[in-house]
Amino acid sequence: MSTESLRIVWIYPDLLSTYGDRGNLLILARRAMQRGVPVEVAEVRSDHPLPHSADIYLIGGGEDGPQALGAQRLLADGGLHRAVARGSVVFGVCAGYQLLGTSFFAKGAKCAGLELLDLQSDRGPSRAVGELAGDIDPRLGVPQLSGFENHGGRTHLGPGVSPLARVTAGVGNDGTYEGAWRGKLLGTYAHGPALARNPALADLLLRWALGVNNLPPLNDTWAERLRSERKTAVAAGRP
Ligand code: GLN
Repeated sequence: MSTESLRIVWIYPDLLSTYGDRGNLLILARRAMQRGVPVEVAEVRSDHPLPHSADIYLIGGGEDGPQALGAQRLLADGGLHRAVARGSVVFGVCAGYQLLGTSFFAKGAKCAGLELLDLQSDRGPSRAVGELAGDIDPRLGVPQLSGFENHGGRTHLGPGVSPLARVTAGVGNDGTYEGAWRGKLLGTYAHGPALARNPALADLLLRWALGVNNLPPLNDTWAERLRSERKTAVAAGRP
């Protein structure tokens, strides 16, 4: 494995960082460092240009107003598009997932997305709030998704993306599928934060960024305990 630093950018902490999504940054950085990979982290506020040379970009959730503003600023900036063209990894959660698509609704208005993923979001009949679980696309080699969702939008995938998971609890995109991925871009409705609850998903992003097929295993006892506790609660109807 190269000893070059892994560069991780947390996009717009001032706008898109609800429900503890910043924890995804901490988890990724820690899991890389535990494998001896040095990490450089940049938290880039929405009034700053986005560097296009990082290895991993993380975008979190947000309420409608900050989500619409974040999408406008990312479109105007263009840095994320340049990064994707260079092969960077992007992980978007909830609002950050929706804005990677072609369009989404915020405060009743249709907003332009970044068109990095072939999907669009509209509004659902009710807000989806609670536990979210699903069987992840077997091609990704990651066990069941475990998370928490809180969103009003529903997401419809085009032929250019694959669903991240088939829903077993909660709503996700539309009650049947949850999240989406294409190449090294991946989006999910799972907060939690998602990577704390899904260490194998964190390692997938790290493997994509580092260009390796395997990483040395870590002690994930606490995450496994949390996953099984939440699974039991969902099964008992107490999510
Ligand atoms: N504003 C979006 C929605 O309600 C995203 C919410 C979120 O990021 N939690 O669908």
